Amino acid sequence: MVENCFWDGMNSYTKELIEAIADISARRYIIVCNVETGDCWWSEKAAMYFGFDFRYFNIKDTEDLATVHPDDIEAFKKAVSERHMGYHETEVLEFRAKPKRSGEYSFFSMKSRMVRDENGTSRYMVVIVHNYGIREEIDEVTGLHNDISFANRINELIKEGTDSVIIKIEIEKFSHINVMYGAEYANRLLWSVARSLNKLVEGKGSVYRIAGIKFGFCLKPMPRDEIQSFYRAIVEMMSNNIYVDDRKIPLKISGGGLVLDGYIKDAVAVRSRLTYAHNSSKHSHHGDLVIFNDGACATVKDNLDLISTIHQCASNGCEGFYMCYQPIVNTRTGKIKGMEALLRWKKEPYGNIPPGAFIEWIEEDPCIFELGNWILESALNDTKALAQMDPDFFVNVNISAAQIERHEFRDSVMRIIEKSELDPRHLCMELTERCRELDTEFLRNEINFFKSKGVKLAMDDFGTGNASLSVALNLPIDELKIDMSFVKDIKDKPVNQAMVQSIVEFAKKTNLETCIEGVEDSAVNEYLGQFGATWHQGYYYSKPVPIEDFKKMYMEMSADDK
Ligand code: C2E
Ligand code: CA
Ligand code: CA
Repeated sequence: MVENCFWDGMNSYTKELIEAIADISARRYIIVCNVETGDCWWSEKAAMYFGFDFRYFNIKDTEDLATVHPDDIEAFKKAVSERHMGYHETEVLEFRAKPKRSGEYSFFSMKSRMVRDENGTSRYMVVIVHNYGIREEIDEVTGLHNDISFANRINELIKEGTDSVIIKIEIEKFSHINVMYGAEYANRLLWSVARSLNKLVEGKGSVYRIAGIKFGFCLKPMPRDEIQSFYRAIVEMMSNNIYVDDRKIPLKISGGGLVLDGYIKDAVAVRSRLTYAHNSSKHSHHGDLVIFNDGACATVKDNLDLISTIHQCASNGCEGFYMCYQPIVNTRTGKIKGMEALLRWKKEPYGNIPPGAFIEWIEEDPCIFELGNWILESALNDTKALAQMDPDFFVNVNISAAQIERHEFRDSVMRIIEKSELDPRHLCMELTERCRELDTEFLRNEINFFKSKGVKLAMDDFGTGNASLSVALNLPIDELKIDMSFVKDIKDKPVNQAMVQSIVEFAKKTNLETCIEGVEDSAVNEYLGQFGATWHQGYYYSKPVPIEDFKKMYMEMSADDK
């Protein structure tokens, strides 16, 4: 019986130590394998996840245990036996598998290390399997509960049926700190913010880190004036009481709130209303708290109608949606070498609606996946003729976090590229801000996959949110797109000049391309020339236009060259 002798010859605490480590590693499973006998032990969480009631097995039975995806099984078997023999020890193996009695495959990555004796003979192999299908509920940077707990708590409160208060806040202009001082400093700052928020909320409810620089609160029922004074206390604390290394860092916030009033039935509805109230605070109320239920969201009713119509259209063959394209110009030659695909929606009686008005809402809805596929298909289709004229021509397509997160994303992108008959190198995927809030390890795997297929990857709106240089350094992307906010009034703003300069210089050193967006006139275009970015994009060259107009513009430019 394996169980009786597996731990023989080890220190009496070894098993307890490993069990303890395995127990607190929420989505990482540990497997220990005796190299000589092939006998293995796996952690309780692993056995539970895959649905087995035993903890010991032999390595030759591995493939019967977890149900590895048929497309991955050969590579999986080969990798396990190679590692068992001590080869490719440091490489990461990726595969898909599912529990014994479940239909859904999850992504896993596996790393192993050999433990050798004093003679160099392999004795034990330790394996860690990372399950991307399970997310932890504690945020590593701040120690606060994260968005999963936030959603769970909201659902509980909805069930309780009390008039609880939900608030979402965002720190404004945090990117300056991130780019200038680096991620480590920014993380310490966030830690300090989290401690202060935690203290402030004591006795009133709880606080969550729901995404990069966004925090959520679930508060017990309270009158409106008390909600407002709670928010003012946060504002006051953020601007006067946040310290890192004894240095005061004044921070500004914006915030949206909502009172659970019995009409709201699920956490998704709460989130989209919070997003609405928060956007209204950010764009129309100078960061003051906007409470969704109150008159402050005056046009809410109309907008809700609009949003629900857009949802219906997205789920109904992408009715009313079309694409526009904006040129991306090589700064050395002044020539158009590519274009960014930008989504548009038009329907009477609403008219033309820009994506800024709906994309955030749609990204929170599962229909974004179908719509995303439709966008990619349309963009590649529209690129065909241009790619025939210029073998280096590329199209940039915006990708939202909700798309990448889906297991089918890889397959559907590759299928769409294949169908288009275009070479993958004509496509560049722009990862928007919320993508960067996904698990870094997961993101790196996805990026590596697409790179290996020849697709280019860019980080969009770089410098906003909590993206820092070190995040970019850690991800194998090809290009940084510098956010427009740095370009606005750049001539009069030394901080923005320093930001653009340091981003471009950093990118050059690490062989990343850069694109400066929001180039609105010839004076700015000329001024930006000194920074030496790879690409410029903006109204100066052209607003986004339908593909036929784009082609005309492109042909005219080519004719000028002759
Ligand atoms: P983005 O990806 O940063 O796109 C650039 C936005 O800036 C576009 O707005 C574009 O029209 C605008 N723009 C371009 N040049 C200039 C300029 O010189 N000055 C100014 N002030 N603005 C300029 P648009 O098309 O309204 O898109 C807004 C955002 O919506 C995009 O920001 C992107 O995040 C999102 N979006 C647009 N299309 C898609 C899509 O197909 N999929 C996804 N997931 N998101 C999209
Ligand atoms: Ca973009
Ligand atoms: Ca952008």
